[in-house]
Amino acid sequence: LSPVHVIGGGLAGSEAAWQLATRGVPVVLHEMRPVRPTEAHSTDQLAELVCSNSFRSDDAEYNAVGLLHEEMRRCGSLILRCADAHKVPAGGALAMDRDGFAGAVTEAITSHPLITIERGEVAGLPPEDWDSVVIATGPLTSPPLAEAIRSFTGEESLAFFDAIAPIVYLESVDLSKAWFQSRYDKPGPGGTGKDYINCAFEKDEYRAFIDALLTAEKVDFKEWEKSTPYFEGCLPIEVMAERGVDTLRYGPMKPVGLTNPHKPERRPYAVVQLRQDNALGTLYNLVGFQTKLRHAEQARIFRMIPGLEKAEFARLGGLHRNTFLNSPRLLDGALRLKAQPRIRFAGQVTGCEGYVESAAVGLLAGRFAAAERLGGEPSAPPATTALGAILGHITGGANADTYQPMNVNFGLFPPVDERIRGRDRKLAYTRRALEDLGGWLAAAPGVAS
Ligand code: FAD
Repeated sequence: LSPVHVIGGGLAGSEAAWQLATRGVPVVLHEMRPVRPTEAHSTDQLAELVCSNSFRSDDAEYNAVGLLHEEMRRCGSLILRCADAHKVPAGGALAMDRDGFAGAVTEAITSHPLITIERGEVAGLPPEDWDSVVIATGPLTSPPLAEAIRSFTGEESLAFFDAIAPIVYLESVDLSKAWFQSRYDKPGPGGTGKDYINCAFEKDEYRAFIDALLTAEKVDFKEWEKSTPYFEGCLPIEVMAERGVDTLRYGPMKPVGLTNPHKPERRPYAVVQLRQDNALGTLYNLVGFQTKLRHAEQARIFRMIPGLEKAEFARLGGLHRNTFLNSPRLLDGALRLKAQPRIRFAGQVTGCEGYVESAAVGLLAGRFAAAERLGGEPSAPPATTALGAILGHITGGANADTYQPMNVNFGLFPPVDERIRGRDRKLAYTRRALEDLGGWLAAAPGVAS
């Protein structure tokens, strides 16, 4: 068999290489460190954790990322095996000794007879004679490769910055205060004229909200992030609030073209709009609310928005340097570039977010590439599993026009019976997922050892 080339030996690339090799497929893993460093890595180890040493909750019954851990274990994940072997006490979280963890991944990959590591930058599109490639170069993809991908896929298809607005679960929005309506009742493409959820402020509520924004705690930019300026089109809301008390009311919170059916006699003073974020309609993002506020501050302040007092957040907002593709537009369901199917993408560069999600997408890319190399067809995990939910989101479920990085969360899963509430609802998601994963693993060829 000729080798599959994996570019990037981070969380995703290491996992992809492992999945390929354990199925008998030779791999050349290209990692540019230490020949060429990134702004965030500090060692030459594979799967280096650039910041926190935590994979978040390990609760596979009530937490979506804990479920993803368990699914990856059942799929023979190297990243999870090494994480479990090097875990440190962290309550319900899976946290690791970072050197022990990266060292174990590096050792497993280096000593595998089917994996060759080449230390060097791939500084452009992979050569034509590499007939199967997985690009897993992460949020800090080196500029020459990023430029090549951008000129191939088009100007708008590769972002260098993520400006993330917070996302809430629809079921936590109080619709006795908020209401569905598009501005001037205009239906967008495929819309109904009721495409947005609106939350209206009275004057005193708006003033209190602006005061809270001005006094909130912010996250500092890292030194290297400072060199990337804000785009005027995606200023953080707290920066807009600093420009004047009415700036937001004339910007993303403008109250025009909207009538509050709960108070039809009063014109709203300001309005926050929430836009559908996934095809299932379970998640909504706060339009124009990208922010650098600390997460705890975001939750506190955004619950001051009328209708969001009890909001549960699928993710909070942020602004970082991050290279990622418009995957819903560019990739097929097996993570292949539609315009050049010999190239797959995996990890954070696909627009999933987080160590675990990146490794999970690497695991899928490795399985898919192996299935093809062995003469079969890639088999996608069921949409009801955490693996299937994240894959479905990045390859089609997310709205391509507003695509921003996303962690795994229950809002990405097809809903369970709506009469099941609270903790039981989470348990219903996770039980269904593990049962369906079992069926998929039993049916999929080349199950990992
Ligand atoms: P990486 O782990 O970054 O791996 C990509 C690899 O590709 C790197 O080793 C790089 O050297 C190599 N590479 C890049 N370009 C080339 C090239 N042209 N040729 C060859 N090799 C190349 N997520 C969390 O869950 N928790 C956190 O605390 C966290 N903190 C983060 C902090 C920072 C500063 C950043 C940038 C991201 C953070 N993330 C965090 C997000 C993300 O989960 C991690 O970046 C994660 O490592 C992504 O995995 P990956 O495999 O896609 O990319």
